[in-house]
Amino acid sequence: MTFQHVFWDWNGTLLDDAWLCRDVMNTMLRARAMPEMSETRYQEIFDFPVRLYYERIGFDFSRESFEDLGMEFIRGYESRRREAVLYPDVQDGLQAIAKAGLHQSILSAYHHDTLVSLVSEHGLRGFFHDLHGHDDHYAAGKVPQGRRALEALGMAPAHTLLIGDTVHDAEVAAELGMTCWLIPGGNQPVARLQSTGCPLFTTRAEAVAKLLGT
Ligand SMILES: [Mg+2]
Repeated sequence: MTFQHVFWDWNGTLLDDAWLCRDVMNTMLRARAMPEMSETRYQEIFDFPVRLYYERIGFDFSRESFEDLGMEFIRGYESRRREAVLYPDVQDGLQAIAKAGLHQSILSAYHHDTLVSLVSEHGLRGFFHDLHGHDDHYAAGKVPQGRRALEALGMAPAHTLLIGDTVHDAEVAAELGMTCWLIPGGNQPVARLQSTGCPLFTTRAEAVAKLLGT
């Protein structure tokens, strides 16, 4: 087996929350009498760094700062975060990988402390060697903490697999020399994910079966 360690993305890959992110943002847009985003529109414009996504939505940073808008989104998301559930095949998939003797971590753009409590709330902490979140709320990108995570592991990137749901996951993996597999999770359209050249899977179960050769 080539891979010894699996890095999972959290939002949209393990947690089914793209719908909630769109819903929270639409609440902010309604409050400003700005047009709401359809699912298609959301998938077209969602991106990392998220500042770019906020610009595409049409926010005017000369009237409201990106930082204030970002905090408003986080407060809205946090107040409703328990509405988002794990994808149904998460538990079994993590279990099968652990049983096969591979180690797993989470590499997320989500705020680190919140990630830690949320993963525990969902009863998954025991599956992970480590959790790597972001040290602020503004999701600029995951390359720096990915690099730190690899250094801490002391593992050659060629032995690691990153499983995510966005073009950014593919970019992070490419930058760090990791392999990337993508599972569309509603944050970006399938066509955009295909353009990365990474293998696409419909479910976590399908990706895990491929990984374990079952
Ligand atoms: Mg994601």
